[in-house]
Amino acid sequence: MLLNWKPHKLLALECWVRHWYRYGICFDHYSRLLQNNATLSPQGLQAFQNQRLQQIVREAYRDIPYYRDLFSSLKLKPEAIQSAADLRKLPYLTKALVVANFDKLISRKKRNFLCKVAKTSGTTGSPAQFVRSFEAINFENAAVWRQWRMKCQPGTRRITLRGEVVVPMRQSDPPFWRLNPANQELLMCGFHLNDQTAQAYLRQILDFQPQILSAYPSNAYALARYFRRHKISYQFEAVFTSSEILAPGVRRFIEETFQTQVYDWYGQAERVAAIAHCQKGTYHIQEDYSLVELIPKGPNFEIAGTHLFNAVMPLIRYRTGDWVRVNPGQFCDCGSHFRTVAAIDGRNCDFIVTPEGYHISAANHIFHGVANILEGQLYQEDTACLILKVVVGPGFTEEDRNRLIRNARENTSERMGIVVEEVEHIPRAPNGKFLSIVNRLPILDDAMESPAAASF
Ligand SMILES: [Zn+2]
Repeated sequence: MLLNWKPHKLLALECWVRHWYRYGICFDHYSRLLQNNATLSPQGLQAFQNQRLQQIVREAYRDIPYYRDLFSSLKLKPEAIQSAADLRKLPYLTKALVVANFDKLISRKKRNFLCKVAKTSGTTGSPAQFVRSFEAINFENAAVWRQWRMKCQPGTRRITLRGEVVVPMRQSDPPFWRLNPANQELLMCGFHLNDQTAQAYLRQILDFQPQILSAYPSNAYALARYFRRHKISYQFEAVFTSSEILAPGVRRFIEETFQTQVYDWYGQAERVAAIAHCQKGTYHIQEDYSLVELIPKGPNFEIAGTHLFNAVMPLIRYRTGDWVRVNPGQFCDCGSHFRTVAAIDGRNCDFIVTPEGYHISAANHIFHGVANILEGQLYQEDTACLILKVVVGPGFTEEDRNRLIRNARENTSERMGIVVEEVEHIPRAPNGKFLSIVNRLPILDDAMESPAAASF
């Protein structure tokens, strides 16, 4: 989530509101449920999934026009969907279908003022919106905390270092952090961490003595580099990462620097699938979070998921466009019956770097609000210049181009050189995946000095 910068008191208020949303009245109930599910037998787990699936399909058919029409066109009744295997009777849902049918996909009966709307970036088409119920937000956080409870409890001192603008972008002097008054969490601004500010960050961390680091992998990695560069040793109880791909070399570098283990969480704005590291460091599909289908695509698999807990806008067989690799027969001795995943290749983990040295990973909103862009990609070879590769529609104007340049400067740096390059087509990655950021900067030199990160 990206917090737009707010004055201190407003930020504090937002922290309390966010705290209430995350840990609301359903949180404890879901926490107990998920804790219990973790030890279910495969048969018990399947019974749980079927019961939830039947309920969500029944309600979707009853309350949501899109699904009522879909079932009618297929001459199906909700009773036809009793288990995950029955889902094959239904077609996949895509982001384009969600954009085209947004209003028809919402339960008017269940939508209320407590619901939140999440948006994806528009880099691979129109931005899509997803409505989450209050209960679903509680559920999401209970699911995250099932993983976190391996190492901490709510209230454990932690720092959060992500793509959140907690102080103004133009601010050049510390503090680049705010204390979340709702819990023992120091919100640190990932955007301001650079060569000039690193010492202030390190001093603050040593002073705050957090046990947990929660961060984007790129931010945790940058922080680890500064700890090494300044020859300061610090041990976290655990590092929790999410929202970007965790590359193996980056993981080892962070773990060695902070003498701890990194626990990664994969999710997406649609919240149709979650994959999390267990205490043994193995990725497990969170089978009671949603129903996950792995669609074979050559040697890899695309993730599709079906909500089990968001009745206001349930997504059924939603294709995420994210990819994983599996090792058939891979076994984890942590005791979980959840399927394992060898690696997540899904999204682009790259970030761009400003002339000041700020690392910015959540830069896709540069394309928000600019008309006539069919596809957009951020491309960087030099910290002084950012290239915006765009496939434009026929109505693209000089005003659209200028808006794009303004957006890019506002979201990166006034000093950033911006080049808009109109292209016919944006090439996909070897696995077919669209990359919203391509980073060709030689910025990983520090890591390469470490033998542990040699494979990065
Ligand atoms: Zn495991």
